[in-house]
Order: sequence, then structure tokens, then C-alpha cells
Amino acid sequence: MTAVNENFLKLKAGYLFPEIARRVNSFVESHPDAQVIKLGIGDVTEPLPQAVIKAMHAAVDEMGDRSKFRGYGPEQGYAFLRDKIAEHDFASRGVTISADEIFISDGSKCDTGNILDILGKDNHIAVLDPVYPVYVDTNVMAGHTGSADSEGRYQGLIYLPVTAENDFTPELPDEPVDVIYLCYPNNPTGVVATKETLTKWVEYAREHHALILFDAAYEAFITDPEIPHSIYEIEGAQEVAIEFRSFSKNAGFTGTRCAFTVVPKSLMVTTSTEKQVSLHQLWNRRQSTKFNGVSYIVQRGAEAVYSPEGQEQSKALIAFYLDNARLLREGLEAVGISVYGGVNAPYVWLKTPQAFTSWDFFDELLNKAHLVGTPGSGFGASGEGYFRLSAFNSRENIEEAVKRFQKIVS
Ligand SMILES: *Cc1c(COP(=O)(O)O)cnc(C)c1O
Repeated sequence: MTAVNENFLKLKAGYLFPEIARRVNSFVESHPDAQVIKLGIGDVTEPLPQAVIKAMHAAVDEMGDRSKFRGYGPEQGYAFLRDKIAEHDFASRGVTISADEIFISDGSKCDTGNILDILGKDNHIAVLDPVYPVYVDTNVMAGHTGSADSEGRYQGLIYLPVTAENDFTPELPDEPVDVIYLCYPNNPTGVVATKETLTKWVEYAREHHALILFDAAYEAFITDPEIPHSIYEIEGAQEVAIEFRSFSKNAGFTGTRCAFTVVPKSLMVTTSTEKQVSLHQLWNRRQSTKFNGVSYIVQRGAEAVYSPEGQEQSKALIAFYLDNARLLREGLEAVGISVYGGVNAPYVWLKTPQAFTSWDFFDELLNKAHLVGTPGSGFGASGEGYFRLSAFNSRENIEEAVKRFQKIVS
């Protein structure tokens, strides 16, 4: 008899985005002429930077030439890309990360899930609430939790609420925590962490021998010069943190797939028999065994993001989305909605008007304005009463969405 991983059965069946799709499809079926604008799922809409396209074309031609053809590449990624990352993303900000501490991958979503391969079963794991659902669900799949309660909180996880009441800045946990997931700029709330906030976490992790899993997928959206782009801008973080980065939102790679994870060599963990083990070595072993690297063509494309033209073009993309975020924010504020985020991030997080629940507001917005957003409660119990709008869309759609939103609220 075949046994399945029964942890999967604990996952909440009505996962957020399928449920949204179900409601949208049913609406469209009964209103075939409605022009629905989707500001729900966080996916980019604008084409890749030209510099990236050019580099990928050239790489395709190399692959068709016997003398330049490449087979399997290094599982950790090509040096040409790792070197550029070390220089542009870290050295330029005063952070020393060596190229061989950078592992190229096909996505941060995969890496934030896969990282659990090298961690033990008995960690006390903390997440913010609301949270990017991947952190929670991968822990459920790995058997690190019990079952979910009626509000969707899994037994065994430690939830740190972030709401308007605490300025979306979590309190430090008041119970032991061994692993903490942080995501800044944050998905879903769009808020950022100051240097002081991150320092507090690094100090906490150092004191409690905890590990910080830092997701910086949206770092390119930071415009405020005081806000750190990397956890490693905080002194001592290299001994307690793994950082996840991605080209998905920074350069439009959601469908092209390239990301990287930084595992510093100074990140050591003590085993049950008091041995010191390097997480860098474990991750290297894990990747060499279960991963065969990212396509050469895609890595050449990612490398081109760091060329002068690539930098200029990807910065223009980010500026475009940030302008969308500003239009959403200002448009909502103008009709009295409380709005958070959307300044150094592509997400606008709003308090639902008239005490609507998140899902009731979803239905209201869909039925009356033909707009789709994401109910805050889908990201965690503390997201109830909030709603996320994504700035990833055309200018035309954003402007039209603001008009429709204002019409139903005012
Ligand atoms: C979009 C996103 C990512 C990027 O995932 P990829 O697999 O690299 O596309 C990572 N973390 C968060 C929180 C995200 O929203």
C-alpha cells in the first residue's frame, strides 16, 4: 500500500487564488460584457528590458554553435552572474558577500520552500500575520505544524500580527523562536523595515541562536535612501540570516525565471550533538543533488540586468509600477480610505470601508466596480478587514480602476 504525505491533507482546500479565480469566473459567466480589471495576483505586466532580450538572443545563438555550445552548467550558477550580483547588489552597498555565497536558482518561491530541506523538524517557526502564504504552506507540507483552526492559523506556528495598530511592525516574539521569516518590502502589506527594526531582529536572532529567512524580492522598489535593501546591511546578520532575492519583480522575470539565495559561509548552526555545521555547505549539497542549475540563456539575460542599459531599463520599469502604486494610493486616500504601503513597494494595503469583511469587500468591488483585488484575510487571520491591490498593471487600467473604485466608495 502506498502511503502519501498526509501533511498535504492539512492544507486549507480553498487556497486564496483559486477561490478568487472561482468567484471571478462565475461573475464573468453571468456578466459576459463586464470589463473586469484584475489587481489581484502580483504578477508583472510590462515586457522584459531590451538589454535582457538582446543578451538572451545572443545566448541562444551561442547554443546553436558547436564551439560555443554549453551543456550542464554549475548547479550554483555561472560565475559571470554571481560576480555581478556580488558587486552590484552587495559591494555597492558596503556589504561583503562573496560570489560563492550566492546560489542562482529558478525562483525565490522555490527556494523559500526548499530551504526547509536543510532545517530540522523541531524548530519553533514564526511568521508575520498576514504573510506570503508560501512560508506557511511549505511548513505544513514538511510536517512542521498541526492542523488549521477556523481562522486558518496552523497549530505549532507562531504568528506575529501586523496591523495598523502596531504600524505593521511586529513585536519580538515572547516565546522561543528558532526560525523567523521576514519579507521586506512586504508582501502583502507593502510596508518596509527601517534599519532599527532589522537591527532588532538581527540582535534577537544572535541572542537566541535563531535563523532569519529574509525575503527581499521587492528590494528594487525601495526609493527611500534610509531603508536597507539587504539584511546584510545590518552588522552581524551574516551569522544569522539567509537572504532570498529574485529577478521576478525587479526586472520582469516572473515568466523567465531567475532568482538567487545568499547563504553566508559564516552562518553556522549547532547540531544536537553540539557539532558546528555550516548551512552554506548543506545548501550547496542540497542544490548539487536536487537542482541542475538555471538555463544558460536565462542567466545571460539576468546578467544583462546589471549592464548600464539593463540598469536604466529595469529602473524605468520599477518607476512605472511605483507611479501606478502612487496613483492607487492617492486615488483611494482622496475618497477617505486608509491606505498603507505602496511607497517603496508595488502593493497597496487598504482598510476595507464600512467595516466590510475582506471577502465581502471583494464581492462588493467585483460586483459593483468589476475590479479584482485580494482579500487580506487570505494572507492570515490578522489580514481580516484589509485588502490588497497590486500596482502591476497598465497605466490605463490603473487609472480606470481608481475611477471605478472612487465611484463605489463615495
Ligand atoms: C513574487 C515573490 C517572490 C518571487 O518569487 P519567484 O519564484 O522568484 O518568482 C518571492 N517572494 C515574495 C514574497 C513574492 O511576492
